[in-house]
Amino acid sequence: MTLPDLLPMYVDGAWHAGAGDGIPVVDPTTEEVVAHAPRGSASDADKAVAAARAAQKDWSRVPPADRIAAVDALRRALESRAADLTAAVVQDVGTPHRIADKVQTALPLAAIGDFLAAAVGIEDPVRTGNSLVFRSPVGVVAAITPWNYPLLQTVGKVVPALLSGSTVVLKPSEVAPLVPQLLAEAVHEAGLPPGVFNMVGGVGSEVGAALVAHADVDMVSFTGSTQAGGAVAAAAGRRIKRVALELGGKSAAVVLAGAELERAVKATVGNCLLNSGQTCLATTRLVVPRERYAEAVELAAAAAARFTLGDPRDPATRQGPLVSAVQRDRVRGFIDRAVRDGARVAVGGSAAPEGLGRGYFVSPTVVADADPGSEIAREEVFGPVLVVLAHDGPDDAVRIANGTPYGLSGAVWGPDEAAAVAVARRMRSGQVDVNGGGFNTAAPFGGMKMSGSGREFGRHGLEEYYELQSLQL
Ligand code: NAD
Repeated sequence: MTLPDLLPMYVDGAWHAGAGDGIPVVDPTTEEVVAHAPRGSASDADKAVAAARAAQKDWSRVPPADRIAAVDALRRALESRAADLTAAVVQDVGTPHRIADKVQTALPLAAIGDFLAAAVGIEDPVRTGNSLVFRSPVGVVAAITPWNYPLLQTVGKVVPALLSGSTVVLKPSEVAPLVPQLLAEAVHEAGLPPGVFNMVGGVGSEVGAALVAHADVDMVSFTGSTQAGGAVAAAAGRRIKRVALELGGKSAAVVLAGAELERAVKATVGNCLLNSGQTCLATTRLVVPRERYAEAVELAAAAAARFTLGDPRDPATRQGPLVSAVQRDRVRGFIDRAVRDGARVAVGGSAAPEGLGRGYFVSPTVVADADPGSEIAREEVFGPVLVVLAHDGPDDAVRIANGTPYGLSGAVWGPDEAAAVAVARRMRSGQVDVNGGGFNTAAPFGGMKMSGSGREFGRHGLEEYYELQSLQL
């Protein structure tokens, strides 16, 4: 992978340098600056929106089958860059290589395949009574993405937008711009018409805010923190734009009496610590029967202690660093305040891990005996921290699981599928894994409550990028 030191922007089919030296991109393992993200301005955002608007009419007239073929060409161009995509995310996010290959690269490529399958025939008009219902593309889409799963989150927005006949301006996270750069190169190679896909770098309060407020942007699809999502929704609301929000979470894994505790705890710890806990749908609360609480804490601490911390390039590493010094310090602050609030650290803690003098590392941490109403039990930490809580039966477990402002994800482990499904259906979360069910890129993904609105991936995710028009005959 050879990328320029100052990454360019991509507007109207051509590469453009941003003004100034750009924003340093730091390798979180070595703490060295490895590149600079472009620092775009509101005027760069304007140019990109103008290019997207100019291209949209012709792109929407391209027959659906040809749009599908164009996106398939993009998929192949990405596939040929798979090794570089993995290396990039290892370098600027710190995901361990052995996990990055599957979760950060293969999974998004599979998600594109699911979108392609869902697109076949989706624009065929549907007859209802005396009406014929058509789908039209939503128009110009601003896609604003975070740093933790840079390809997956970008694919979840850019691919359905392109398939629908909409055009895109992508504003990737300034923290992890290497993967988006490779994506833009793949778009260029795939030969999409100029202006159909554009990418402008920069910080959220400048380029992101300019895109959200822009009169010529029809839809904003945002993934990031609940705080920034609220600001985006408020600004977009002033122009009655369509908004899709994928925000934070504090997901619960509920273990019911009679479930296989050891298996449930091991899977929950693995899910929680994935990508150093920087996963929006991480199950960060383990909610177990009170009579098995002590056993569960012990099992969780033992499982977390087995996560080898180290250089993400090392095949033995299961947990890399956090993405930045800011994130590391934030996570340590959460652990310190939990202890101050009376919780107990069963393993890990906020002290710098031994033997790792460089890099933004936080030890895999299990917190026990926290007050269910305390910060650590309710707020998203976005780090490798699991909280173990006790419940007094299914009703209490559901009350605890639903007792945060979030509703993104969750898990239920029961003695059988029917018992687990009954509890899962009472959880106010966009997706719930039942007895270890795995992530599915063809199923709708998104949050309830303050975890967002709208759904991504598969058929439901594609439908979000269309307007419906009914003609009464
Ligand atoms: P963030 O909110 O700081 O930034 C996300 C993106 O929004 C970045 O590109 C940023 O530049 C931009 N941005 C920030 N403020 C903006 C504004 N006012 N207007 C327009 N754009 C703005 O989030 P982050 O730190 O990059 O990501 C971590 C957060 O994202 C966590 O809270 C996590 O839970 C959430 N997340 C959610 C999902 C999901 O699908 N629900 C997926 C991944 C991450």
